[in-house]
Amino acid sequence: MSAHPAVLMRLVASAYAAAEKAGAIVRRVLHSGELGIVEKTGANDLQTLADRLAQQSICASLSKRFPKITIIGEEELTAEEVREDLIESGQAEAVLQMGCPAEYKDLKEEELVVWVDPLDGTKEYTEGLLDNVTVLIGIAHGGKAIAGVINQPFYNYQLGSSADLGRSMWGMLGLGAFGVELQDVPGDRRIVTTTRSHSNKVVTDCVDAMEPHEVIRVGGAGNKIIQLIEGKASAYVFASPGCKKWDTCATEAILHAVGGKLTDMHGNAYCYDANVQHMNSAGVLATLRNHHYYVSRVPQSVLQALKTG
Ligand code: AMP
Ligand code: MG
Ligand code: MG
Repeated sequence: MSAHPAVLMRLVASAYAAAEKAGAIVRRVLHSGELGIVEKTGANDLQTLADRLAQQSICASLSKRFPKITIIGEEELTAEEVREDLIESGQAEAVLQMGCPAEYKDLKEEELVVWVDPLDGTKEYTEGLLDNVTVLIGIAHGGKAIAGVINQPFYNYQLGSSADLGRSMWGMLGLGAFGVELQDVPGDRRIVTTTRSHSNKVVTDCVDAMEPHEVIRVGGAGNKIIQLIEGKASAYVFASPGCKKWDTCATEAILHAVGGKLTDMHGNAYCYDANVQHMNSAGVLATLRNHHYYVSRVPQSVLQALKTG
């Protein structure tokens, strides 16, 4: 380990440990059987006890060690003392041991913005589609998503053994991604992955316009980005304003770290400054390769409906 790791490496190391703890909380709440479901804007916009506890855990753990960073979490929670047992103080050694890219060595704590989705795929969590669920912690600097951590609490749950349950991955621009293996979709097939629970005609028209060989409908932004990296899908196409900055900051950073691209439907980048609107109002289009093809196929009607904000 370097004697004084850069603040960005220390933050990612802490975020990695915090995401693992949050993943354990998400599993524990499920096993308790008391999900504590609350409807936010409606039946397709849910919050559970797991979302609440995981966010408390991540935000309290990171702000304790890094009091000057700005942390923006998905859930609106009442300000209350966070239970001591929810605080994670560990740091991932493997992250601390990596050298920081030169351009990020001197970043200051107060310049960093952290976007937290404590449980991505809540709808699927409540329906037992457990591998759709992820914990997302993204780090932005100067409006750009530069690093991210994803925990997938129920990875391998179909195997039925607790030994290999769950996994974590992280990535940083200039370093690459770790904990996930990069693969291409076999045979240049256009496999489009999209929402299963937040669809409408604009969303499906846009998917059709890509002329896909196959369409996969699964929950979670994190889950779909992992599909891109692991060669299970070629494009994540979501022509709707429903995705938020906490869905795309960590995922964009990891995807970009391996050479992929995440933009709005026009092909424009999103900004992750602390003061931006939370909604990704011009949709989400993400690919590992051939981004230009997918942007070029977006129908005019979709571009009209989803103006760059
Ligand atoms: P999905 O692909 O439907 O799982 O959506 C990816 C992320 O965007 C999840 O965090 C969803 O909760 C969120 N999302 C997408 N559309 C909506 C919507 N119409 N209302 C609320 N959240 C949405
Ligand atoms: Mg989400
Ligand atoms: Mg969420």
